[in-house]
Amino acid sequence: MIPAIRGTRDILPGEVERWAFVEATARRVFEQYGYAEIRTPIIEREELFAKGTGETTDIVQKEMYAFTDKGGERITLRPEATPSLVRAFVEHSLEQAMAVPKIYTFGPMFRYERPQKGRYRQFHQVDVEVFGIKDPTIDAEVIDLAWTLIKSLGIDGVELAINSVGCPVCRPRFAAALVAALGEDVQKLCGDCQRRSTTNPLRIFDCKVPVDQPIIDGLPHTVDYLCDECRTHFDAVRKYLDVNGIPYRVSHRLVRGLDYYTKTTFEVLAGQIGAQNAVLGGGRYDGLVKELGGPDRVGIGFAAGVERLVLALPEQLAVPAARPDVFVAALGDPARDAAFELLRDLRRAGLNAQIEYEGRSLKSQMKRADRLKAPLVFLLGDNELARGEVSVKHMATSTQETIARAAAVEFAVGLSRRPQALQP
Ligand code: ATP
Ligand code: MG
Repeated sequence: MIPAIRGTRDILPGEVERWAFVEATARRVFEQYGYAEIRTPIIEREELFAKGTGETTDIVQKEMYAFTDKGGERITLRPEATPSLVRAFVEHSLEQAMAVPKIYTFGPMFRYERPQKGRYRQFHQVDVEVFGIKDPTIDAEVIDLAWTLIKSLGIDGVELAINSVGCPVCRPRFAAALVAALGEDVQKLCGDCQRRSTTNPLRIFDCKVPVDQPIIDGLPHTVDYLCDECRTHFDAVRKYLDVNGIPYRVSHRLVRGLDYYTKTTFEVLAGQIGAQNAVLGGGRYDGLVKELGGPDRVGIGFAAGVERLVLALPEQLAVPAARPDVFVAALGDPARDAAFELLRDLRRAGLNAQIEYEGRSLKSQMKRADRLKAPLVFLLGDNELARGEVSVKHMATSTQETIARAAAVEFAVGLSRRPQALQP
């Protein structure tokens, strides 16, 4: 047998219901906040991410699935959604086409990483982006949206961390202060950090090497170096979050792994899903649209990892698989033909009706009904056919009765509606 590729996985019946629940909930919450769905291709030009995600990021340097196609073009499987959505925003002038360019998307992303729990090579994100709004109320709305998504999924034990990474005015000052504060200590840090200290010093805060941590803990904080504009913006974001009653912690180390972030960054961490505990991350990217050849428009958004959301769902939220309302069993060939007719009528009435296809013994048909957890079995045999009747077995109580064939569909419809009507 030919196994699936390392770092990819099949989402099987039993788990897929939890995925569908996450997607349906996300869609409901996003639409309620006025975000419109967009779908973009999985393959894009490599340069979109080289430029958009950033040449110095781990994603571009180590993790992209990039190849030359038969036409000689450099193609990549998208590692994240934001550059694609920025491209679509620019390419289709969504600013004109939409009243407010607030969009969301779902789909697979690809990164060549070391697979482990909560980390895959093909994984899935729900992604939200807003373009053209500078006001800090939109930062608060997007964070509120992320928080509301998590809460609507019933996920508890989560923490929201926020920070501001400044802008092209104040960030270089901060980077210089960071390098100065490090001084000679830079030599004690890991190789990655030494490289970061020259390419992108803020990324030192991403380091997870244990021995580096005491040094990193002593470094200056971005928020103490913000220019007036960035400081005012950050204070306003915090104020609006407070007004909305959204609990957060300011995390000085939250710089995020992508080059394009400016001002607000945020992340949601889940307690109970293991080492890969970031379920969602995002921030503002005021220079990216222009950088990718569009008009000078700001942007903000977030991406949540669906695998990690599914892991974090409460166990009792496991959404049950669809069950038949009724199973149709038949004994003998004439009854089998009649059973298929009854099956058809039940389905046309909107019921989930199932049958055993290969004409096995009554015993194995009843076993099948039991495995499918059908509450009701309609049994047709020669006697029933002759009398124009159907035998009914109620599986929960093992009681039997006989009804007229002409009344069978209505009978099943009545029983199937009863439990639904009891629900609030
Ligand atoms: P991490 O620190 O876990 O590597 P990241 O900063 O690379 O995350 P982002 O690029 O911000 O992640 O993507 C947003 C979300 O997508 C993450 O919070 C996570 O839930 C999910 N995610 C990222 N990479 C993977 C992966 N390889 N497998 C599964 N989920 C992932
Ligand atoms: Mg990563």
